[in-house]
Amino acid sequence: MTMRGLSALPLDDDLLDRVMTFCPTFGTLRAMVLVSKGFHRVFQTHPKSIMRAVAYNIVGPALPQALRLIRYPHPPPEDPIDMATTCPEDHEPSVFTDDEKKLLQDNAKVVQKLENIYSLTTKDRTSRTSLLTSEESWRFCRASYRIMLYCKLFPGNIYSFDELEDLDDVQIAKIRRQRTAVLNEYPTDELLEIFSVVKFIGGIFVEVNGGIDSSDDLDVLLSAGPAGAVSCWEDRDASGLDEDLLNLLDGDENNLFAGYFSLPFQNIWGTRNIKPPKEDEPASKYVLDQVNGANDTCSHCATPGGLALLTQANWDRQQILSTQLLKAKLKSNQTLTFPFAQAAGNLSDPEILGCFIAGFFAMSRRAPGFEDWEVGQSYCQPCLTKYLEEHAWIWWLQERVKTGWVPPEDCWYGYNCNTQTHKLAHAQQKNHLCVPTRGSV
Ligand SMILES: [Zn+2]
Ligand SMILES: [Zn+2]
Repeated sequence: MTMRGLSALPLDDDLLDRVMTFCPTFGTLRAMVLVSKGFHRVFQTHPKSIMRAVAYNIVGPALPQALRLIRYPHPPPEDPIDMATTCPEDHEPSVFTDDEKKLLQDNAKVVQKLENIYSLTTKDRTSRTSLLTSEESWRFCRASYRIMLYCKLFPGNIYSFDELEDLDDVQIAKIRRQRTAVLNEYPTDELLEIFSVVKFIGGIFVEVNGGIDSSDDLDVLLSAGPAGAVSCWEDRDASGLDEDLLNLLDGDENNLFAGYFSLPFQNIWGTRNIKPPKEDEPASKYVLDQVNGANDTCSHCATPGGLALLTQANWDRQQILSTQLLKAKLKSNQTLTFPFAQAAGNLSDPEILGCFIAGFFAMSRRAPGFEDWEVGQSYCQPCLTKYLEEHAWIWWLQERVKTGWVPPEDCWYGYNCNTQTHKLAHAQQKNHLCVPTRGSV
């Protein structure tokens, strides 16, 4: 039914009110109110409850945490207890400003993306959209918004280098008391959810920036919070993070960030006299009731791999440098490496990488021993890499032939030929995208 049709009907106000509460975004609500007098009139009578309902549709049951995040005053109070209790999560329905609506929607997108990544890496590796149950999703989102607030209260880029150097122990101790007080507001089970999501975010930074080798650097990155983690995951590197924050990496020991989350947690476990979560236990148990495929093994070699196994939905977790995929000595044949890398495209882009790998599974010619590999199966990283290596050169040969390339005579030593790596003329005159017919030179 069109909007005009709806407004022309003698619908009662309760029904109009109810229809508005189903709007999935503030944009749809606005359009509805603007287009029909009936909706406009009813909206004016209870804007607060209708807006709250729409906000709930956007954010879900973590709305109290999402609202505290956007409404927390700036600058925050300095006293630790005031800081922890200001702008509580419980609140009455209220009207949303345009800025608040935008922030709410932007933050909800970040949390949704983070949940998708969490689901793929922690709950079920076969789907790129979250498969968390509603209860699990609620815990995850609640914790994520609280982490966002924490990172907003203690941002990584608040001090310049010079100011950081000037911070004395008394000031740092005060900031640490503030951090502990803010987290100490939450009951233990919900604090463990935060601990769990912090650990997951840390895992993203480590997975994406293979080079993180100090916990100090990880502490600095954690201050980038959920939005920083999502950006790192999507870009497959940290370059999208705030420059001031990146400048702090590899710096001298930075007391302000050391133990960014871990110190307050440690303080709180101590005061509450509870055992800290064990390092060797999966922290996901504080958020998830069940993990799918946790005991799955590689379809090829039967190595246990669980959620780390690679399949179509999560191929891009594997970071690939295209030329490394060329088999044997082909990697060092300069007449091949550059055009191959160009043909493969930017494999750090998850979509391009996904299509690239899918293409290998669609090939009619399979290397011996790999005939039964299927796109929907899951493989361990060494097996999948082997599969890609065995097929990359075949794919490249087929691609070149498709574009009209006529291969010169095959070199006897094929991809194992050593001469192709140091004699340009030989590399150009013979085809090396072929199986050796003689032993290696
Ligand atoms: Zn395997
Ligand atoms: Zn050769």
